[in-house]
Amino acid sequence: MARKRRVYVRRGVDPHLEDPYLRRGGYREPTVCPTCGLVFHDKRWRRDDELSHKLHRRKQTLLQKCPACRKIEDQYPMGIVTLSGHYLPEHLEDIRNLIRNEEQRGAEKNPLERIIKIEEGERMLVVQTTTESLALRIGRIVFRAHRGSIDYKFSDREKLVRIDWHRD
Ligand SMILES: [Zn+2]
Repeated sequence: MARKRRVYVRRGVDPHLEDPYLRRGGYREPTVCPTCGLVFHDKRWRRDDELSHKLHRRKQTLLQKCPACRKIEDQYPMGIVTLSGHYLPEHLEDIRNLIRNEEQRGAEKNPLERIIKIEEGERMLVVQTTTESLALRIGRIVFRAHRGSIDYKFSDREKLVRIDWHRD
């Protein structure tokens, strides 16, 4: 069950706050994520489908969910981008594409950056992400392409950023 989280204001991405899903030295090599196929190799999670395939068949390969799949399973976002306003419905398709493109672009660099879900309401779109940085990039790209106003709230206690974008 998702737990309730309060937001405390913080000024920027604070490096002392750790991602609880990135346990240091917590994964053995080789490990393959059974859900998305990422490989833990050279101390990093990476997308390498060929290697993933090969490792999957080996007995000594550990099958363990990667941090991104665990956050998605737990519905534990580290970024929440809320887009709202009268402007939104007419530009929904374009904005949705911007968001998906940004996710794909980011995944090439860091495959642990993913969208957990996108919820649509009336004149509203809420995007939950597995990392703060993906949420920040989504906010920035929507703001750059569509103007409007944007507001960032960082949590003081944990890795979580809330971004509110609005345009009427
Ligand atoms: Zn995974």
